[in-house]
Amino acid sequence: MTAPHILVVEDEEHIAQGLVFNLEQEGYQVTHAETGSAAMQIFDNERFDLVVLDLMLPDGHGIDLCKKMRETSPQLPILILTALGEEHSRVKGLQAGADDYLGKPFNLEEFLLRVSGMLRRSNWYQPDLSKNESYQFGRNSVDLKNLQAVTANGIIRLTELEGRMLETFFVHAGDTLTRAELLKSVWGMAEDTETRTLDNFVVRLRKYFEQDPSNPRHFLTVRGRGYRFERSQNE
Ligand code: CA
Repeated sequence: MTAPHILVVEDEEHIAQGLVFNLEQEGYQVTHAETGSAAMQIFDNERFDLVVLDLMLPDGHGIDLCKKMRETSPQLPILILTALGEEHSRVKGLQAGADDYLGKPFNLEEFLLRVSGMLRRSNWYQPDLSKNESYQFGRNSVDLKNLQAVTANGIIRLTELEGRMLETFFVHAGDTLTRAELLKSVWGMAEDTETRTLDNFVVRLRKYFEQDPSNPRHFLTVRGRGYRFERSQNE
């Protein structure tokens, strides 16, 4: 197992040193960039598990960097660091796709907790079911690798997104998933995104897989929270 790789983008030397030192003490692999352009160059050539991003950089604003990173890495956890009196940047940063923020000056322990929490969640969001070629529930058999399902209604070709959503449900069978968790897992979006799309997807899955879509046994609505997938229900 390799240590999570973290990119620290921070131009203030003493802060950067402290962050790098403490992250390394925690066992992470850390790469440091002092400018936005240096960060983007490294970012395009290496794989990272998390980015710590200062917003005020000598050659531009961290928000633009955040947007660029999001274009290619929708699921990458990004933690932004904002200076005192920059509350508006915090909001802008979150809108640009950052997952969380810390205001400077921050407590080091809190910073490390934030990082480990974000890494944990991001692992959660990338379930690995690809080795299990087919998944059975009810009268259905789903092949996630080839995006094909055999159902009581015949053979169905699944879209990439449908596959990803099914995978998320299967991995967390029996657990209630909030809309935010599903959106993040399937679309890589923040929770304030339009949730109608998500509901429409669930309707579609019910049509494919439920004997009676209006009285679902597998893809259940959990009122006020989200959805829950149940593998075996008495039919
Ligand atoms: Ca700075």
